[in-house]
Order: sequence, then structure tokens, then C-alpha cells
Amino acid sequence: MSGKLLITGSVAYDNIETPLDKTERALGGSASYAALAASFFAPVCMASIVGSDFAESDIARLRKRGINLDSLIRDASRPTFFWRGKYHDNFSSRETLEVQLNVFEHYSPKLSDSAKDADIVLLGNISPGVQSAVLSEVAGSPFVILDTMDLWINTARDELKKLIKKADILILNESEAKMLSGDRNIIVSGERLLDMGASSVIIKTGEYGAMLFHRDGFFVVPAYPVKDLRDPTGAGDSFAGAIAGYIASCPSRSFATIKRAMLAGAATASITVESFSCLKLEESGLDEISRRTGLIIKYSSI
Ligand code: AMP
Repeated sequence: MSGKLLITGSVAYDNIETPLDKTERALGGSASYAALAASFFAPVCMASIVGSDFAESDIARLRKRGINLDSLIRDASRPTFFWRGKYHDNFSSRETLEVQLNVFEHYSPKLSDSAKDADIVLLGNISPGVQSAVLSEVAGSPFVILDTMDLWINTARDELKKLIKKADILILNESEAKMLSGDRNIIVSGERLLDMGASSVIIKTGEYGAMLFHRDGFFVVPAYPVKDLRDPTGAGDSFAGAIAGYIASCPSRSFATIKRAMLAGAATASITVESFSCLKLEESGLDEISRRTGLIIKYSSI
């Protein structure tokens, strides 16, 4: 049974500075990257909110990928979510310089009938309050993929812990996994996060790949070897979006399916980081994703 996919998260304007270049008011946000990535695998509904300053041309970019925007609200009284970040030391660390929640301070999700019917939901990175509000609008018991970040672990831990119990897949990066689990070892962290109630856990290890902790086993996917890194922003969201899209396109949600979804996620994320914002991702296609997936398999097989 393949599924109807709903993705929520931020739709943002980003100011990004890397060691090589900078850009202002680029289309970003967890939901934008995730929905674009997922759209190569399955039809996507997006539930989110934009503000008075959100350009019609950016709506058109999402529509061009076939993303259903019936549940994307416009609040004309406030600006769009804004994020400003800077990469240091040859991309090895990222600093968030500014986050303006703006329209998200008053967001109350309104899902279209088709979004309410979703049987796979990606709760992309945004406050656990917004993630819960969207999930509570969905009828039935969807397969839930939950993404988060350090800000929410620090400011909304209890709400996040409640959501983790509903997650079929919890996705976070290595430092966040250690922060949330309270253990310094990545393997112990994965096991502790399973004990917190997630059915499976994916811990991202950046340019080295990602690990899956699942009741049927353990799996490691390497990253695609990127030579021309331009802007890592959105890599995690694209990884999660491609995983959600891949699973939505499959008849099963087994361990094997999630492993293959992680390969698709790694391949798709590698495309995102080769340009600023989502420029290369939105112009990509399944052929390029499949080519990169094949190379990841080749490079990690004996
Ligand atoms: P990533 O590089 O995958 O962590 O995602 C970066 C994207 O997440 C940027 O486009 C930001 O607009 C968005 N973002 C940054 N901080 C937050 C936050 N606290 N909540 C939701 N989205 C965020």
C-alpha cells in the first residue's frame, strides 16, 4: 500500500553566509526543502504558513514541483519565518544568528480534506507545538516521521518527548541525539531514544552519513561524496523529505524499506548542498538521484 504524504515545517526566507559566498532572503525552511525532496518520489501536500512578504514567484517554484499547497496559509499581517545563519571553519560548524518565528507565533493549521487523509506525515523541523497541532488534524493513525533540532530540545523538551512516543521514525543529528538522550555515545543514544518510545531512530552524522536503529536491526548509510560543497543548509530537511517521499511510494514500511529510503535521502541531500538555497534541488530529478544512489551502494559494497 503506497501512501498519501503530508509534510509540515517552516517555509522561510534565509540569509546565509558561507566561507565562499552569501545570499539574502533565499527560499528555505524545513517544509520547503522536505517537500521539494519528497516530490521526486510521491505526491506531496504541504501544511504551513507564509507572510505578507512571501513572493508569488516562490509559491510558483513549489507548485512547479507539483506540491499541493491547499493547506499553505498566508497571514497578510506578519512577515514570513526568517532565519539567518553563518558557516565557519570551512563549513565544519554552523551558527544561527537570528530566528524570527513571525507568522508561526499565531499559526493554527487548517488542513484540506486531502491533507487530513494523509497516511504518512513528516513533521519537519518546527516547534513541537506546531507539529502536534498539525498531527492532531490528521484523521486515522498515520505513519509519523519526526524531525527536530537543538532549539526545541532546549526549549520544548516535554512536548517533544510526548511526540516521540508517536514517532515511527525519529530523525536528529548526532549532537542533538546525545543532548536528548543524555549519553555521550552515539550507539547508546540511539538505543535510549528507542526506549523513549520512537519505533525507529535515525541519527545523522553529517558528511559521514546516518545510522538507523530499528527493532529488526541496525543500518549505516554513507553520505554521497560531495566535492563541490556550496551551502549545507537544508541537507537534513532534504534527507528527511526524500525518506518520507520514498516510503510514501512503497507498499511496505519495513526495515528494508526504511534502509532503501535512507539511500534515497543521502543521494537527495547531496544535491541540495551543491548550491545555495534549493536551487539545485528544485531543478533535479529522479535520474540524478538514482545515479547518486547507485554510487553510494557501489562505494559501500565489497
Ligand atoms: P537544516 O540545514 O536541514 O538544518 O535546515 C535549515 C533550514 O531550517 C533553513 O532553511 C531554516 O529556515 C530552517 N530553520 C532554521 N531554524 C529553524 C527552526 N528553529 N524551526 C524551523 N525551521 C528552522
